[in-house]
Amino acid sequence: MNIAFIGLGNMGAPMAQNLLKGGHTVYAFDLSKTALEAAARAGLTAAASAQAAVAQADVVITMLPASRHVEALYLGVDGHPGLLAALRPDQLVIDSSTISASSATKVARAAAEQGITMLDAPVSGGTGGAAAGTLTFMVGGEAEAFEKAKPILSLMGKNLFHAGGAGAGQAAKLCNNMLLGILMVGTSEALALGQANGLDPKVLSEIMRLSSGGNWALEKYNPFPGVMPASPASNEYKGGFGTDLMLKDLGLAMESAQMTGAITPLGTLARNIYALHSRSGKGALDFSSVISQFSKT
Ligand code: NAD
Repeated sequence: MNIAFIGLGNMGAPMAQNLLKGGHTVYAFDLSKTALEAAARAGLTAAASAQAAVAQADVVITMLPASRHVEALYLGVDGHPGLLAALRPDQLVIDSSTISASSATKVARAAAEQGITMLDAPVSGGTGGAAAGTLTFMVGGEAEAFEKAKPILSLMGKNLFHAGGAGAGQAAKLCNNMLLGILMVGTSEALALGQANGLDPKVLSEIMRLSSGGNWALEKYNPFPGVMPASPASNEYKGGFGTDLMLKDLGLAMESAQMTGAITPLGTLARNIYALHSRSGKGALDFSSVISQFSKT
């Protein structure tokens, strides 16, 4: 198949690589010249624009930072036509960015008005999961389109869920990321308490991982530097999942809680902790750097 991949950041670049490895031709585009050049070096076909990338594509995938980028790309901005104007009904469109469910629904509705099928398919699993092709996809949209997307998504992920209609993938993703934000703060707090009590963070991490405090951060993404060689904490919190992206997701979760009347006290607290962390100049670092709010790392 010919696949257009737009947005070659920390997540998009390794995801596009897995499509290439799966034997597809990948037309890649990113506004960042550096990202585009890296993609070309890695064997993707660099396109001059998003419109050029989709011209010959059977499937179009986007992996952009936030709602405003997705809306601007597909719907257009400042009088410039969006990508929807360049798409055809025979092309399947998949947006894997994490955005608000209302934005996802708005774009999917605009696509449907042009006869174009669109899925919201946000992911979980981090940059490690993106590189290993083991992401979890939470998909919103028509069941038939989900079935059509499966062979492509399975090259990038190992758990594929159909969460419901348009926007449902994003709603599921926000619940998951609110929990992730909370558990990273909790894990950081526990490790800092251990450190204050003179415990070795490596030993404490192992104790908690195999005890009732065990969780994803302790299994795969330890926030304490040096405990897990492959985690962003051991690489000066570079790469990974930026604090500002986590802050964005918690903001979306709060927005959705307000709209639905759901009660989310820990989500609210976690959002404020990441906001303080971002304001202290750490917004671009991986979100697990939030541990520096508590520990002496
Ligand atoms: P990133 O900032 O590293 O990459 C985003 C890329 O999109 C950048 O290279 C940017 O130049 C490009 N871009 C922005 N607007 C564009 C446009 N109009 N056309 C072409 N390219 C454009 O972000 P990321 O970490 O790859 O995350 C992407 C999405 O995935 C976000 O919504 C994020 O919340 C979500 N996500 C990230 C992780 C993670 O661990 N990093 C995990 C799960 C989900």
